[in-house]
Amino acid sequence: MALIICSSAIHAAGCYTTTPICKGARVAEYTGPRLSKSEADACYENAPITYLFGLGRGEMVIDGHCMAMFINHSCDPNCETSEVRGRIWIKAIKNIPAGEEITYDYCLYDGGDDEAVCNCGAKKCRGTMYSKEEVRRRKAVQKKAAQPPLKKAAKKRGKRETGKSVKTAKA
Ligand SMILES: [Zn+2]
Repeated sequence: MALIICSSAIHAAGCYTTTPICKGARVAEYTGPRLSKSEADACYENAPITYLFGLGRGEMVIDGHCMAMFINHSCDPNCETSEVRGRIWIKAIKNIPAGEEITYDYCLYDGGDDEAVCNCGAKKCRGTMYSKEEVRRRKAVQKKAAQPPLKKAAKKRGKRETGKSVKTAKA
């Protein structure tokens, strides 16, 4: 199995396989320095792009420094991630032909103001890289912020702070 990084139709650079991969095979490991959630928040507070992968229940993250960090999100992916004894593996969930881009579902959470718009192009694209649970949570937060209507205009500048306290509370 050989992986290469090429430009991708989904986003910037992507990870492609030059050889066929069988369903169930480990494609790559997500490696890099391990940081606590608060260390990562402090490091990347204003960073537009991060390559953090949450471990366990999200109290630790891997700060991606590897081939796997280039793997793009898809809502109809050919891989999934699995955590085995504190290590993150990208595993094929279907047979992947040579030349195909490797993808997995990011299931993002804890994104602050970022919309995390998805451009994967899949028929069942959900339009965002957030997990279904996170989409539900964010909708609930938005709904709360939207009522009563008077507060909406007045609190507009405070929205970011509201989002932040929510995410801290979750951890
Ligand atoms: Zn999508």
